[in-house]
Amino acid sequence: MGQAMSVKLLALATLLPLAGAQTASIAPPRSAPLHPWVSECKDWDEWDKSGPPFKVYGNTWYVGTCGISALLVTGPRGHVLIDSGTDAGAEAVLANVARAGFKPRDIKVLLSSHEHFDHVGGMARLQQATGAKVLASPVAASVLRTGKDSAEDPQAGMHKPMRPVAKVSLLRNGQAVRVGPLALTPVFTPGHTPGATSWRWQSCEGADCKTIVYADSLSPVSRDDYRFSDHPAYLAAFQRSADRIEAIGCDILIAPHPSASSMRALLQGGGLASVGSRPCEAHARTVRANLMLRLIKEKQPR
Ligand SMILES: [Zn+2]
Repeated sequence: MGQAMSVKLLALATLLPLAGAQTASIAPPRSAPLHPWVSECKDWDEWDKSGPPFKVYGNTWYVGTCGISALLVTGPRGHVLIDSGTDAGAEAVLANVARAGFKPRDIKVLLSSHEHFDHVGGMARLQQATGAKVLASPVAASVLRTGKDSAEDPQAGMHKPMRPVAKVSLLRNGQAVRVGPLALTPVFTPGHTPGATSWRWQSCEGADCKTIVYADSLSPVSRDDYRFSDHPAYLAAFQRSADRIEAIGCDILIAPHPSASSMRALLQGGGLASVGSRPCEAHARTVRANLMLRLIKEKQPR
């Protein structure tokens, strides 16, 4: 090694720590880039605010708004869409189906979580736009057909009527809805509403398959004069719904209000399929705790 070279190396060696320190002070923090949905949507965001669609896992896509979930499960013989969002939000859902690279006319079946306007208010619009078959639980089907809440609904009388859906076929609890190779199983989970339905299916990436559950709202919300404790049969069914969710077992759980299943936090943490967690069991625990709190409140003098 010549002298000139060793001087150069020495200079470089003395410069390196300084260069390193400078780089450290000006470089952006080394964290993963924000997921597009996380950067555009807030927790408990507005129901009709459009947010970007994204792949949940395999052939399952999130096509909902920032505040209301809608899921597209795609297949070679046609797709299934669960939930429409509100009447206005349905336009954002349709746009997201196209943005994700799919044709609304290829949706063959429309399903839903529960019969409230924030989740099915746009179903008539989606039925028109897609020509798809609408399927719902018996109670939810009559709400969809009339546009009016069922009398048994703890929130009956609180909502404006929805646009009626022309033709609704009935689901049977546990009997899978099939479109080509797709099979989505309805699990009736009454409680938040009498016709509430959760959904279970598998999506695969290569040989790695995940069980996805779209767990319907099981929040004990009602109008002011309603007490769950005054309706023992309804309350027992509500409690059984938590058992059903616990028994399903799932790798990915999504709720009709994305923040109810911590969607932002999970996406920020790397994805909805968190390794080693038991989201269905955890969800059932939360549901039971909220219901217990509600029943304690109902015992207090009004
Ligand atoms: Zn609701």
